[in-house]
Amino acid sequence: MPEYIVESIQDITPGFLKNLGAKGILIDVDNTLAYDNRKDIFPGVPRWVELMKAAGVKIIIMSNSFKVRVSPVAKALDLPYMTRCHKPAVKSYLKAAQLLGLSPDECIMVGDQMLTDIRGANESGIKSVYVMPVAFETNIFYKNIFKTRRANERRVIMQYNEAHGTDFDLPPQIKAEMRKEDLI
Ligand SMILES: [Mg+2]
Repeated sequence: MPEYIVESIQDITPGFLKNLGAKGILIDVDNTLAYDNRKDIFPGVPRWVELMKAAGVKIIIMSNSFKVRVSPVAKALDLPYMTRCHKPAVKSYLKAAQLLGLSPDECIMVGDQMLTDIRGANESGIKSVYVMPVAFETNIFYKNIFKTRRANERRVIMQYNEAHGTDFDLPPQIKAEMRKEDLI
């Protein structure tokens, strides 16, 4: 269960971080900053990164993917990055916090997958922020895996809603790819 859910990373403001006593962001790439396996970064992301940097917030990219996939995104945003992190491996989260010069409780992790991004943050003493995935995974190999993953995540989102009185849900373009029985 994530500590927080946001619709998009633009909902994460310097004020949001200040309220949490956080100074740094560990952030996922695929479906958080950019379309999975594509180099195009989501609109609004470069501006968001600039605003965060201007506010003195430190950011590091933490991806389970390879350097060839992650480095163009990191370079475009001028951010430090870690690849092949094996999220939810705690070791990588602690390393990322250390690279920012912060303690784990001064960091938040932002990502679109409960099993990797959120689980590892919770186990590392790093505040977890689930961001709604933007699009359904396009990779043929992962498509069926993600039908199940997104279904499980949606159950967690519904539990979060019940606990917090919110009404978050996966976006329509993702629900359109999911099995009908998982959308009840
Ligand atoms: Mg992701």
